[in-house]
Amino acid sequence: LAAAPPRRALLSPSLPTAPAPLRLRSGTGGEAEAAGGDRDKDGAGAMLRHLARKLRASGPVTVAEYMREALTNPGQGYYTRRGGVGESGDFITSPEISQVFGELIGIWCISEWMAVGKPNTFQLVELGPGRGTLTEDILRVFKQLASVLSKCDVSVHLVEVSPKLSEIQAVMLTGGKVQPNPEDESAYMKGISKTGIPIFWYRDIQDVPPGYSFYLAHEFFDALPIHKFQRTEKGWCEVLVDIDPEVPDQLRFVLSPSRTPATQNFIQPEETRDHVEVCPEAGVIVHRLASRIEKDGGAALVADYGHDGTKTDTFRGFRNHKLHNVLSAPGTADLTADVDFSYLRKMVQGKTATLGPIKQREFLKNMGIDLRLQVLLQNSGDTSTREQLLHSYDMLMNPEKMGDCFNFFALLPHHRLVHPAKNDKPESKSPLPPVAGFNELLLK
Ligand code: SAH
Repeated sequence: LAAAPPRRALLSPSLPTAPAPLRLRSGTGGEAEAAGGDRDKDGAGAMLRHLARKLRASGPVTVAEYMREALTNPGQGYYTRRGGVGESGDFITSPEISQVFGELIGIWCISEWMAVGKPNTFQLVELGPGRGTLTEDILRVFKQLASVLSKCDVSVHLVEVSPKLSEIQAVMLTGGKVQPNPEDESAYMKGISKTGIPIFWYRDIQDVPPGYSFYLAHEFFDALPIHKFQRTEKGWCEVLVDIDPEVPDQLRFVLSPSRTPATQNFIQPEETRDHVEVCPEAGVIVHRLASRIEKDGGAALVADYGHDGTKTDTFRGFRNHKLHNVLSAPGTADLTADVDFSYLRKMVQGKTATLGPIKQREFLKNMGIDLRLQVLLQNSGDTSTREQLLHSYDMLMNPEKMGDCFNFFALLPHHRLVHPAKNDKPESKSPLPPVAGFNELLLK
């Protein structure tokens, strides 16, 4: 891949200019911002009033319902109105830290496409694209490797519920030249990327047309609503959100008086933890991805912070790069919980094979990040760019920063990992190429 100088200003080591260090959503330490502040300025008053009315009328709601309202309520949700990814927002993510991240994922797609014999068409489908930076970096790689992809018909499909973020993505990827509500498509918007590739926007993965696809979900599953459960002397109860009767306009957690439908459906009899979080929506979406991959081929790459069914209370909020009380000023802060990879694996069982989760630093090392860094360093003349490159490499790879807590997890058709039914001459088959990232990248 030709050396490209960093396209955008990478975060400088001397940052932050923000009042607090830039916060990764994976982080847990730090002081929570005081409750309440700036409520009306941010429209939190309207969201709180809406929730309070609902709670008074029909009683406490599940944490999942609270999270859904706070994040994606069509009028006042956090992603609908604010969606603060990036340095000037509420939290920072890998694609925003370094262009190298997206470039290596672009190479991952091409490597998988080559491994299955270069099908003549593929869709790049991104779930929750934020500012659109990851897709932008991937499309630059596709352009640089145009000779390799010359006979392949590529299209981009973005699944995004936030009107505000889809607008930002449209500007980033197409220069703002988009057509809303195209009549001939299931998409709510379409356009052409600056590199000439058609791009479509949808609210739901089910609207994306079928076909051989690479599905990417970077820091997407952690934003989906979770249920929370607590073991008590009476058995499993569900944690709910209610209005505090003592303090006007304040929310509080309460326990369901007894089991709820969710406790019965989501807690395994062999569970040993005392507190459990479950994200059924993540289960439904990953199951849909697996069904599509089983039917039409392709792969899904999920990158997020998470655990393998071991952690307990991970629900947290972020605002202006600071931890934020999850129940205060809903709609003005990002809410998130660790992804349970063991749950995702269970939900795709039988449909696709899975790889990982493996640590981000191992995945990126296998993808050749060290070599890519060397090329960029050699091509950058000035000291400040070199410092930025080294700083962003450290952010992505350092085990104490993003290197260890972010994981990569993939879904692939079974036949991608194991040859279909053994015929009488198994030795005549060529070995399957290893899946890049989970093994060292071998691009011929
Ligand atoms: N992938 C980006 C952004 C992560 S933030 C990055 O890493 O920088 C989460 C993203 O998911 C946002 O774009 C948000 O608007 C979107 N999102 C949240 N809930 C969603 C849902 N239910 N369906 C589709 N997109 C959703």
